[in-house]
Amino acid sequence: MSIQKRTYIVLLGVPGAGKGTQAKHLVKKLCLPQISTGDLFRFNLGNDTELGKLAKGYMDKGLLVPNEVTIKMVEDRLSDDDCQNGAIMDGFPRNLVQAKAFDDMVAPYGGVSAVPMLTITDDEAVERISGRYSCSDCGAVYHTKFNRPQKPDTCDNDGLKLTQRADDKPDVVKERLYVYYKETAPLIGYYFAKSLLSEIDGSQSIEEVQIGLISLLS
Ligand code: ADP
Ligand code: ADP
Repeated sequence: MSIQKRTYIVLLGVPGAGKGTQAKHLVKKLCLPQISTGDLFRFNLGNDTELGKLAKGYMDKGLLVPNEVTIKMVEDRLSDDDCQNGAIMDGFPRNLVQAKAFDDMVAPYGGVSAVPMLTITDDEAVERISGRYSCSDCGAVYHTKFNRPQKPDTCDNDGLKLTQRADDKPDVVKERLYVYYKETAPLIGYYFAKSLLSEIDGSQSIEEVQIGLISLLS
């Protein structure tokens, strides 16, 4: 029986590197859905589900939500109809256990296709995160300096008020960067060894990073 090959792109990079911003662009270019585990947790939080209540305790502290629930959530999402050609992974996998679980999930479809890594300095990450505002309804992401909405504090898509994420406050941001280096950075070597990793200078403008990503993926 022949397998149906699918496209699974894993975006890597520190919090604030631009993964979500670029994923939204790739969705349109590649006609694949974005799977953001952060957005999925925030959706559950907003709907006061048991998963949301559990995740909140970890998210507020900048810690990773336990692997078991995170992996199950991704498995469920990947089985949705819109994921039949693959997906753009934004924020998952975030440690080696998740990476291996993800390999198992996608192995029947040809495995992970590419792992672009957006590189920025820690200072840039802090500056980007401290100016990040988003629409809690449609998920659009803006920045007070680098990516302003047309009307201050207002989402271009639906006119709703933009808010700052609770975990984008300075003390939680430091913890999230620490967790990135401890838990997520080992994935760089993991994917490099599989010849899947490509670095992209994430400190370029949003448009320049978009161009770099598309040329890498096409
Ligand atoms: P991540 O998903 O990796 O945490 P985001 O896509 O949410 O990162 O981007 C973090 C913040 O930086 C947002 O406010 C976004 O508007 C802004 N941003 C994203 N890419 C760039 C870029 N290339 N240059 C400047 N600011 C950017
Ligand atoms: P960022 O845009 O800064 O990279 P995310 O929106 O991806 O942040 O994640 C926000 C929070 O959600 C994380 O700090 C963590 O608590 C939780 N989270 C997101 N993805 C995962 C994951 N793959 N595993 C465990 N926890 C996660």
